[in-house]
Amino acid sequence: MESELIRHLRERISADPRAPLGLSDDAAVLHLASPGCMVTSDLLTDGVDFHLDEVDLRRVGHKSLAVNLSDLAAMASRPIAAIVSLVLPRSDGLQIAKQLYDGMLPLAERFDVAVAGGDTNSWDGRLVISVTAIGELPARGPLTRSGAKAGDAIIVTGAFGGSILSRHLDVEPRVREALLLHERYQLHAGIDVSDGLALDLSRLCTESGCGAVVELDAVPIHEDARRLAAQKADGRTALEHALGDGEDFELILAVPTDDAERMLSDQPLDVPLTRIGQFIAEPGLWQGDADGNRRPLEPTGYEHRL
Ligand SMILES: [Mg+2]
Repeated sequence: MESELIRHLRERISADPRAPLGLSDDAAVLHLASPGCMVTSDLLTDGVDFHLDEVDLRRVGHKSLAVNLSDLAAMASRPIAAIVSLVLPRSDGLQIAKQLYDGMLPLAERFDVAVAGGDTNSWDGRLVISVTAIGELPARGPLTRSGAKAGDAIIVTGAFGGSILSRHLDVEPRVREALLLHERYQLHAGIDVSDGLALDLSRLCTESGCGAVVELDAVPIHEDARRLAAQKADGRTALEHALGDGEDFELILAVPTDDAERMLSDQPLDVPLTRIGQFIAEPGLWQGDADGNRRPLEPTGYEHRL
């Protein structure tokens, strides 16, 4: 089955000078233009991240690459290549693999990512997808979580909450947005929102050794969060969904004030940029009101249990 899948993929994947051997050999050759590269990896597992019998596998294939590209975007790294490994259930394994690639390859093409290799296995367990993505080290250096400074504006892309209604599978990684912003403005720190706006912001604060005050009125709430709140499934408000739902795959950036003002008036992206608060020297996550009062803000979000 593996050789049939490789044959199928070699027909579908066009030649790429950055990975000139294609899928023909024991290991991939990668030609990197930049002096260094960045590597990230993500696992998607049936029963944890999706349910095989309820979902269009092309969307799962898309997501499995997209979440890696989002991690590269968080560090302003341009994607180069991906390595894809599948552990397939014994029944229908080849069909499952083909559908996953049907979702993954158009995204790879759109973001100019060479699918350069990987491995495939079958077993009696559930489907597991592992994707490793390789990106360029940006000329200005990587955007990290650790550079936020007191006084920086908290800038976010897009809107938050309610992704579970559907769009968590249709992740649109903010790669182009991150590259453009990193090139055009001074950014001190960045992270992508995989587990929740509040939780991922608190992670950025921890790495930067600072705190953040969020102006709750300024948080862009996604229409899905409002729909979910209206369904009253768990009694949470739209704002609570926006702060804690996760899988938005938007960016949180720490931006010095002057650049933040320029960025907000330029609005150089297709997606809106919003200032939702400010980083402060005092550690912790806070909610602030117009009168300058502060109260602690719970870093809600999704924690993977080990
Ligand atoms: Mg991330």
